[in-house]
Amino acid sequence: THFGFETISSSLKASRVGAVFSSVASNYDTMNDLMSLGIHRLWKDHFVRSLNPGIRPTSGKEQEGQRILDIAGGTGDIAQRLLDHATTINGDTKTHVTISDINPAMLSEGRKRFAASPYTTADRVDFLEANAETLPTIESNSIDLYTVAFGIRNFTHKDVALREAFRVLKPGGVFACLEFTPHLNNSLLDAVYKRWSFGAIPLIGQVVAGDRESYQYLVESIERFPRQEEFRDMIKEAGFMVPGGGEGEGWEDLSAGIAAVHKGVKP
Ligand code: SAM
Repeated sequence: THFGFETISSSLKASRVGAVFSSVASNYDTMNDLMSLGIHRLWKDHFVRSLNPGIRPTSGKEQEGQRILDIAGGTGDIAQRLLDHATTINGDTKTHVTISDINPAMLSEGRKRFAASPYTTADRVDFLEANAETLPTIESNSIDLYTVAFGIRNFTHKDVALREAFRVLKPGGVFACLEFTPHLNNSLLDAVYKRWSFGAIPLIGQVVAGDRESYQYLVESIERFPRQEEFRDMIKEAGFMVPGGGEGEGWEDLSAGIAAVHKGVKP
């Protein structure tokens, strides 16, 4: 890496990813706040608002709601926002979110979050332990919205996961990804940011969570993720139409390009 750290794992081995997330699960939400100085909340809010989940009830019509799949949903941070937005902004009381994750420890944090939630009582949330690369229990053409936040960079075969996203989405359904980018738009800012991420984040991991290696892995996995253009092309290759022409030509940079939102529509 740029700063001379030894690379823990040169390839994204599923077992390695599993060990990392089992280790970080119980501290995951607190650590996110510390490491991003709380900014991940703003990105997630923006991501969900931009998707406007839920369907406004139309008078005289039975409201159906949407079927949303939150992949790598972990502790349910995105699912909570999706359901809150559908309910409070769109008055939609039917939209359902399946929180899917490969890691049982992360899912169990999600289950805790929703244990006493009205969304559980209303049967609007459920959990699925699955690898995003194969979702055999999800029917083809059955999903309105597929979300993946800070997850896809950990997948061993991102192209396979993108094709699986394409399969499960209905025609007109939306793929939406929020992920870190390997480089910031400004090289000076990039250098400052790299110092923070490679220096402070493993240290915070060590001090707060007693686990330096997992947090070092998480930082390194960001470096290995494709740049925005390349990832947009991967989304297209999976069959999606990518909205273009605007800022970023097919994606939206957040906070000077620390993170980016990519979307695709299944034709
Ligand atoms: N989406 C949540 C959020 O934004 O807070 C959690 C993100 S967390 C950084 C990444 C999640 O990806 C972990 O819960 C991990 O278990 C999951 N994950 C890693 N590889 C996966 C795979 N192949 N399939 C499904 N989930 C995976």
